[in-house]
Amino acid sequence: MATRRTFLHNTAAVGAGIMLAQAQTVHAADDLGYSDKLTDADGKYAAGPLPFTYDALEPVIDARTVELHYNFHHKPAVVAANKAEDSLAKARESNDFALVKFYEKELAFQLSSHILHTIYWTSVSGKGGEPKDELAKAIDKNFGSYAKFKAQLVAATIAVEASGWGIVGYHPATGKLMILQCENHQKLTAWGIQPILILDVFEHAYYLKYQNRRNEYVSQLFSVINWDNAALRMQAAMPARRLT
Ligand code: MN
Repeated sequence: MATRRTFLHNTAAVGAGIMLAQAQTVHAADDLGYSDKLTDADGKYAAGPLPFTYDALEPVIDARTVELHYNFHHKPAVVAANKAEDSLAKARESNDFALVKFYEKELAFQLSSHILHTIYWTSVSGKGGEPKDELAKAIDKNFGSYAKFKAQLVAATIAVEASGWGIVGYHPATGKLMILQCENHQKLTAWGIQPILILDVFEHAYYLKYQNRRNEYVSQLFSVINWDNAALRMQAAMPARRLT
């Protein structure tokens, strides 16, 4: 059941009743034309509403963790990404680039946090199971089987050094589906990859419930993965034609 707090949160976020809010966001994530809303009408970075209530991932992820994660880890990254861009604009205006290195690093770190969190919320908005159709075929082709793919994804995600992410991405330039580790929010990428499934292994994503047991958290995540959304993301990343 939705708590009063989550009800207020959702109504405030979309200005509608909770059922309508949920229907809209779930529908959006399943829509073929869906794209993540990373910015508002003014071009400023903005966090979209969660595609579920805080308690929707229980018992895999507890409501308090989702609430803290969204409000005190995702949202501040959005604020900081805007601040980095504003600071770079001021630097251009004043032709004072003394802090350019700091704000370029901030932009990469904070914007990547915003992007990966946005995808993560949809990645864990499902009911688990296994991928189907085109995504299942791509997994078989690139990894041998779903079992081998899952074994690599789990191992890679658990082994992320310190804070970071397990990432499944489609690489349009090569047509490959690949698994990457990401440290912090922006390190260890392969340029051009389009993330289609994101697993957050920062401690803030699981520590209240799982403490040091990252492996247990990652294993449990598979019961809430939204494979349909991952399939849509892969489809959207496939180019009509390639430049390379
Ligand atoms: Mn996080």
